[in-house]
Amino acid sequence: MDYEVVIGLEVHAQLLTESKIFCGCSTKFGAAPNTHTCPVCLGMPGVLPVLNRKVVEFTLRLALATHCQIARTSRFARKNYFYPDLPKGYQISQYELPVAEHGWLDIEINGETKRIGITRIHLEEDAGKLVHDESQSLSYVDFNRTGVPLIEVVSEPDLRTPEEASTYLKKLRDIVRYLDICDGNMEEGSLRCDANISLRPVGSEGFGVKTELKNMNSFRFVQRALEYEIKRQRAVLEQGGTIVQETRLWDSDKGVTHGMRGKEEAHDYRYFPDPDLVPVVVDDEWIENVRKELPELPDAKKARFIKEYGLPEQDAVILTGSKDLADFFEACTARFPQPKKVSNWIMVELLRVLKRDDKEIDQCPVTPEALADLLKMVDENVISGKIAKTVFEEMYVTGKAPELIVEEKGLKQVTDESEIARVIDGVLEAHPNEIEEYRAGKEKLFGFFIGQVMKQTSGKANPKIVNKILKEKLKD
Ligand code: ADP
Ligand code: ZN
Ligand code: MG
Repeated sequence: MDYEVVIGLEVHAQLLTESKIFCGCSTKFGAAPNTHTCPVCLGMPGVLPVLNRKVVEFTLRLALATHCQIARTSRFARKNYFYPDLPKGYQISQYELPVAEHGWLDIEINGETKRIGITRIHLEEDAGKLVHDESQSLSYVDFNRTGVPLIEVVSEPDLRTPEEASTYLKKLRDIVRYLDICDGNMEEGSLRCDANISLRPVGSEGFGVKTELKNMNSFRFVQRALEYEIKRQRAVLEQGGTIVQETRLWDSDKGVTHGMRGKEEAHDYRYFPDPDLVPVVVDDEWIENVRKELPELPDAKKARFIKEYGLPEQDAVILTGSKDLADFFEACTARFPQPKKVSNWIMVELLRVLKRDDKEIDQCPVTPEALADLLKMVDENVISGKIAKTVFEEMYVTGKAPELIVEEKGLKQVTDESEIARVIDGVLEAHPNEIEEYRAGKEKLFGFFIGQVMKQTSGKANPKIVNKILKEKLKD
């Protein structure tokens, strides 16, 4: 039997607010354990939570960017469960009335656009962190993360392949980064993804039983965990078995998923409206103010890059993959207005060295202005394109200006025709046999002569001029 894969993602994003969702404690990462806490986030008796307005504003940004309907009134609910990282014995979340519902975002798959539905976006608080010390068989708990604001974005079961799932996740990460509401770092856990997956016979209407995968802290792991789970579920079904609805953990060392626990149902959590918090009321004016402040989003920027700069789609996709990279491109193009040349350099040279050194564009030692100056020097034949790569590498390592490097290292292109002619004469004199063979029809040897001239000038001779003079001299 042929099966169709059905995937829906639940993505948690930590919001970049200064303070926690219901108290004034700092959200800063990396502080000494339990120093960013207060009676509210520690769940002491008698305290009252007060909603951080910024958290709602950040959520509105994402809701608008993903075309959601925004609830004029939404509510917080208590999700009750016991775990040592949850001091109150319940998590404040949203249940039947989330802030936003019924949105979508578009992903590009094999050159085609596919629209993925967003079921809902709701607000909740993060739990603390357990620290296990196996040498003492002890566990500690750090409550600094307790009460850090999260949004949960739930997708419709519209995704059909692991690749679609990771593309959707990447798009969502790009958007939250553009909106400046989450740093999108999966390794550090500020963006977390639970993947729900099931198989069904091709052509059938209903959905199969799903499993929920957790613990995948990179795009690659999301994709690999889903690929593994497809194989596993298929094998179970093909042997006539049934899928158990459960939560499974991805083990990245072994490349497999393990059953962790049976899936809880909503009623297990005994959700009820939180009596300590008033409803969240959002009016049209607030929504319009947020809408006015929205930055240009990835899709719009991509379309503009294609139209305004005449870039191929593929270039625009890569350059708008991060806002910082897009800004870099635009700053460079403003100073050296040949967009395609700038794009090529960024995509081939710049991204290569950044990837090699595991750096982000905002840590790049080469400024867009310096790169523009380098490209200008190539354009004006001051240096060759090949030498420019050496200069670039030096700029990247030292942060020096290209002019300075070219000057210091004597890399200026030789364009003086008489000087080049002199080198060519020398080369021809040293290779009489090759000249004969060339004239007898072995045209390949032209490249050999060029190579010799370049070698003697350390790559600095202007290739066009070398070509021209060499042709003339080889004629007779
Ligand atoms: P639950 O009640 O188990 O939390 P939900 O209906 O709330 O399930 O959906 C949670 C996530 O799982 C959503 O992203 C949804 O798209 C996805 N989902 C729901 N049913 C299926 C299914 N049969 N197969 C794959 N994904 C599913
Ligand atoms: Zn606090
Ligand atoms: Mg659910």
